[in-house]
Amino acid sequence: MSEKIEFTPKPKEGEPWDVAIVGSGPASLTAAIYTTRGAASTLILGGEIWGGQLMLTTTVDNYPGFPEGVQGPDLMQLMRKQAERFGAEFVQKSVESINFNPPAGGPKELIADGKKYLAKSVIIATGADTKWLGVAGEEKLRGRGVSSCAPCDAPFFKEKNVAVVGGGDAAMEEALVLTKYASSVTMIHRRNEFKASAAMQKRVFDKEKEGKIKILWNTEIVEFIGDQKLEKIKIKNNQSGETTEMPIDGVFVAIGHIPATEMFKDKLELDERGYIVRMPTEHQGEVEEKKHFHTKTSYPGVFVAGDVHDHVYRQAITAAGFGCMAGMDALRYLDKATPSW
Ligand code: NAP
Repeated sequence: MSEKIEFTPKPKEGEPWDVAIVGSGPASLTAAIYTTRGAASTLILGGEIWGGQLMLTTTVDNYPGFPEGVQGPDLMQLMRKQAERFGAEFVQKSVESINFNPPAGGPKELIADGKKYLAKSVIIATGADTKWLGVAGEEKLRGRGVSSCAPCDAPFFKEKNVAVVGGGDAAMEEALVLTKYASSVTMIHRRNEFKASAAMQKRVFDKEKEGKIKILWNTEIVEFIGDQKLEKIKIKNNQSGETTEMPIDGVFVAIGHIPATEMFKDKLELDERGYIVRMPTEHQGEVEEKKHFHTKTSYPGVFVAGDVHDHVYRQAITAAGFGCMAGMDALRYLDKATPSW
């Protein structure tokens, strides 16, 4: 590993960090690379399960710099090492609560694992969590046949019959991973066309031709059935209205994500879908407007990056890009020079 270079000391007990970053995906770790290199003491509260969605994926072929592709968890490990190399303190604990405006004034307060951390600025990069179907039996059978992560759970379904729900890139990826293990893979999609990228669709249709994937169009799961583990699903054709039961060992739900913003509900402006709103620069205060903070939230000194505010692009590279912007905004908020090298 390259030599560790720290540009600023860590704060003493009871003193605030310059920047606290909540979350530990590409947005968080990129922000930390920038803030540490800009001589801002940086704390990452990364959560017990760190690394975000890339920890649950296999080959990432669209992250620049890796012509042969890179495994998602490897990419995250590299980003973490890079941030730590410049002095970021990584605490693998989840934030339980945040007070941006403590009654006595002063720095922002973050509680993780019962311990209070203080910070002059905060970058929120909490990403997004799995969206579930919300139908009968799903919650009860999660982890007993109902999953959201084929790269994690596919080996448990060797020679079994599985289904994947969804029509986006994630569903394609789940189905393709499962073909390596399961004896049958059925894709269940509510419409008659996928929304996934052409490249991913092609890979799925190729497997369909080989007889390794079967596709049920215009179909929805209405119930998961099983006692100790998943045994069958009730599915409905939404064109004919016909309902049938299908014996199945595993179902992988890949219908998107919801932003991890529960903790910020009454504290920051969220949009109607629960994503954190980035404030337009013309609505910021005079000083802030001059600085053109593009990642500013509705609370001064609190910035946002990645999937927790972005429902459009949602890529590792765009999250990293937003992380860079939020890191630079935090540095300018702290009146520190921004590193460009
Ligand atoms: P997504 O693109 O939003 O796709 C979600 C899919 O789930 C859609 O097909 C949608 O149906 C379906 N769906 C949503 N709610 C549903 C419900 N209640 N019941 C049944 N079906 C439902 O989400 P994603 O696939 O997770 O992808 C998110 C982002 O990550 C995308 O930008 C994607 O490109 C990216 N990603 C990339 C890769 C890769 O490049 N390897 C892998 C994974 C994800 P409709 O089609 O009818 O809307």
